[in-house]
Amino acid sequence: MQSLTNISEIKDLLSRHGFSFSKALGQNFLINPSVCPRMAMSCGADENTGVLEIGPGIGVLTRELAKVAARVAAIEIDGRLLPVLNETLAGYDNISLIHGDVMELDLQEIINREFGGMRTVICANLPYYITSPILMKLLESRLPVDSITVMVQKEAADRICAKPGTRECGAVTLAVWYYSEPQKLFPVSRGSFMPAPNVDSAVIRLNIRKNPPCEVKDEKAMFRLIKAAFGQRRKTLPNSLMGAGLSRDEAISLLDAAGIPRQARAEQLTLEQFAELANIMSV
Ligand code: SAM
Repeated sequence: MQSLTNISEIKDLLSRHGFSFSKALGQNFLINPSVCPRMAMSCGADENTGVLEIGPGIGVLTRELAKVAARVAAIEIDGRLLPVLNETLAGYDNISLIHGDVMELDLQEIINREFGGMRTVICANLPYYITSPILMKLLESRLPVDSITVMVQKEAADRICAKPGTRECGAVTLAVWYYSEPQKLFPVSRGSFMPAPNVDSAVIRLNIRKNPPCEVKDEKAMFRLIKAAFGQRRKTLPNSLMGAGLSRDEAISLLDAAGIPRQARAEQLTLEQFAELANIMSV
């Protein structure tokens, strides 16, 4: 069985299949032999678990997941990689390959079909061009999964795992915090990939919450406020909240009713305070 972290073996494999890397699809494949086993060990999979992988590439992480999990279903958008994967994963009988765009597929249906009620986790080295939309889709669809372990750009990891109410946080921090408890696992240097990207990476794990950390009557309204506030994060809230369709006076009354200073900016608010604003609006 060929090594999927040996550069000359990978080059030979890819040239036999006439494959060239697509930058647009975020194709940076892992070649550091210690990273995939470590991800597979830390994603919480065991012999009773199904793992959903997004973007298997040439299958380097897929193989490691298949060794620890009961089943792996891997979704790959690039049809040119399917013959490659059929070769590299030939010895494994617990892997299903699904050709498609993760943003278009019905993931709930895939999980039911592939894992039929088995405990499920998600594990992936995400394509960087679409990290936030993928994470938001995974979280908002409320999939029946225990955790999501993903490799993302280091800066994205810092933002996602920041504490709400601190300077490092963004709209994605609050959304992630609402659905899960994020945890930084370990850093991965840019030299661990082929081709090497211009940035370093990190592996994070989102432990899905059973219940949200605060009560919100209208989640959509809360996320509209969060998006507007962080969309203009340097402005004070009476100005930035106008992006959510409020007039400046309405925004001021809302902040006053919630006891939030008029000079506050998005990054100073906790999730509970955004929930409070949305709850006052929906009375
Ligand atoms: N897992 C492999 C590894 O660690 O070496 C490859 C990771 S590479 C960073 C991202 C992979 O996601 C590529 O194989 C790419 O073709 C695939 N991909 C990109 N966009 C996708 C999408 N929308 N849906 C599914 N797969 C996608």
